[in-house]
Order: sequence, then C-alpha cells, then structure tokens
Amino acid sequence: MHKHHRALGLAKAPSVGIANAAEIAKLRPVQPVTLLRPHAARRAARYFVEKFPGRSLYAVKANPSPELLQLLWAEGVTHYDVASLGEVRLVAETLPESTLCFMHPVKAEEAIAEAYFKHGVKTFSLDAMDELDKIMSATRGATDLNLLVRIRVSSDHSKLSLATKFGAEPSELTRLLFATRQAADAMGICFHVGSQAMNPAAYSEAMGRVRDAIVDAAITVDIVDVGGGFPSSYPGMEPPPLEAYFDVIHRTFEALPISYSAELWCEPGRALCAEYASVLVRVEKRRGDELYINDGAYGALFDAAHIAWRYPVALVREPASDVRSMPFSFYGPTCDDLDHMVGPFELPGDVRAGDYIEIGMLGAYGCAMRTQFNGFTVGENVIVEDEPMTSLYGAVATETRSNVVKL
Ligand SMILES: *Cc1c(COP(=O)(O)O)cnc(C)c1O
Repeated sequence: MHKHHRALGLAKAPSVGIANAAEIAKLRPVQPVTLLRPHAARRAARYFVEKFPGRSLYAVKANPSPELLQLLWAEGVTHYDVASLGEVRLVAETLPESTLCFMHPVKAEEAIAEAYFKHGVKTFSLDAMDELDKIMSATRGATDLNLLVRIRVSSDHSKLSLATKFGAEPSELTRLLFATRQAADAMGICFHVGSQAMNPAAYSEAMGRVRDAIVDAAITVDIVDVGGGFPSSYPGMEPPPLEAYFDVIHRTFEALPISYSAELWCEPGRALCAEYASVLVRVEKRRGDELYINDGAYGALFDAAHIAWRYPVALVREPASDVRSMPFSFYGPTCDDLDHMVGPFELPGDVRAGDYIEIGMLGAYGCAMRTQFNGFTVGENVIVEDEPMTSLYGAVATETRSNVVKL
C-alpha cells in the first residue's frame, strides 16, 4: 500500500487513506486507479455474520485479494469457499487459521489430495458418483469428511445462470445421496441459484428441491448450504433488501425434515465484496456518444463487455459539470473490437478527453478478472474513505455521495 501511494505522487501513505476520487483525479494518473473501501467490505461482512441465520462462507473467486481476505477474517468470516488448488494455497497462506471448503464439484485428484493432506481441508462438494470415488481415493478412504452433494436448481431469478454446468442428475440423485451418506462423517446438500438473484423466491424454490431430495432418499442431512447468489445494487438491478432473502432462507430451512442440530450455510461472493472497490479511469478520446477509456474488457470490465453488465458511473471533475446527462458506451484500451462496453452509462453530455470517471461496484468479478492483454496493466490501489456509489447495507445517502464527487 505504502509503495503504491508514493508511486501516485502522494508524499506519505496516510494510515487512514485519502478521502475520495476527486483528490486522486487531481494527480492525473495515467493508469486506471483502484479505489478500495475497506469500511464497505467490513460492513458487508458484519451484516452477514450478524444477520444470516447460519454460517457465511466467503466465495473467494469473487475477489481473492489478500487484503480483502484479512478484512473479512477480522470481522468474523472464518470459513472460505475455494474452488481451485490456487485458491486453497492462497487462503491457507493468508489466513492459516481459517477453514477451507473445496466447493467445486469437479476437482483434480491431485488437488483433493494436497488440499486434504497438506492443508487440512475436510469439506468437499460433489455432484456425481465418479467424483465421490475420486474424493475417497484421493483422501485414501478418509472417515472425517464433510461431503456436500450439489443439486441442480433453477437460475430463473438470477442474472447469471449457474444451472447447466453443475448439479447431480435427478435420476442419480437418490443413489448419490445414499452413497455419500455412507462415506461422509457429515453429509450436506448444496446448491447455487445463480449469481445476482433478484428475487428471494429463488431460495425458497431451491429449498423445495432440497426437501424433495431428503424425502426421496429418506436420509438425514447435517448441512444445508444455500450457496451464493446474494445480489448487489447496480443500475437497473436494484434488488429487495438482503433481510428478505435471509427471512425466506430461515423459514424454509426451519421447515425441512432434518435434525435440530443440522447447520445452515451460505457462500456469498458478490454481496461481500462488490462495494469494496471502484475504478477511476481516464477518457482518452470521445467520438460522439462513445468514450475511449483506459480500462475495459481485459481489465476490470469483463462483465460489462461480455454480458452487458451495467455499473454506476460518475464524472469526477471540478467544478462539476452542469450539462444534462446522456447515455454513453465505452471502448477499452486494447486494439480488440470486443473491448466494448455497451452500457448505457449515464454521464454529463460534455464529457471529454482528459476527464476522469469513477466506475463503481467493481469489487466483485471486476478487479478479480484483469489480464495484461495488449500491454495494458492496472495502476495503483488507493484506500478511500467515502461511501461506495451504491450500497445494500444502508447508510448510503445518494445525495451525500454526489456531493462528495462534485465537491
Ligand atoms: C461463484 C460461487 C459462489 C459465489 O456466488 P455469488 O453469486 O458471487 O454470491 C458461491 N458458491 C459457489 C459454488 C460458486 O461457484
């Protein structure tokens, strides 16, 4: 962090960070600058730890930065959903006391073996008999495993489907649950309703599938894991409050025919870290309603390019523009036509080359997906103290926020 601040031209790394995007824009950074808001990640973690009626695992793929992992840990997130050997090693090294759960249903045998024998991972998910055999063989018939069977549920309420790739075949499910029950110390059922689930009903419908599976197999279940999918707020995608999701999950969990000692888990990724980061980009060229900016599809804007995800944007200029806003699309810095973010992104009509724009809510599946394609790399990370551009955790008055940006 210290080194980064110096590189930006800030004499000393302030221990509490600098206030906001406008101050950074004054330094006229050439590379995109990542604005980190530790207070926003802490607030999200506290919310889940205090209000989710069970255990919250952080899904590391949404943003694996070690600083973020440490923030979440400090707020009481003790369990981490990892999906690759790289994530297992990273979290084991960053948070040696944490509990890792290897929740990718298709793993390499070598990865399972290293996770179990070297890093003490005891929790694995699976969605087929082959994977169960693989886990038992890689762990040499371990008897202390928590095994969660991933069932297939609908992604109808979600913006990003996760319904086709994973999930046990319905025709095989009873047999698989039975065999897993035999092999596991603790047995669970897990699912994922898809990312950015816009309706809490996604979880009640999925819980209906869990109930059917338990009844059909007539087995006892020790863990029900409702996965991720908890939404964040984006333009045109303002979800109901998270409490509505927690209520539905709590109610449907309580109604399941499982023992009173069964545990409820969830695996939020996006909801814990979307508000953690935004990116300050520079406009290098304007062509009509198209802005050529210095970050894009191969940087933090993969989803904006590939699935037309919309992020909140704000012009960071002093004095603030009073020109009426209009819709823009963005081109990223590479030479690739695909490096195009259709938006629309609403910005004042007088945006021009040399302006800085803050793009919000890039803490989840934004910063994590950067590449160095075409020689464009990311610039500094700077801690800021102002509020994220939108928030699901209250306390964010949009007015306060725009005052900050306009100064
Ligand atoms: C990606 C993923 C998550 C996190 O999903 P979000 O939509 O970001 O909450 C949780 N669990 C599993 C198994 C995943 O693959």
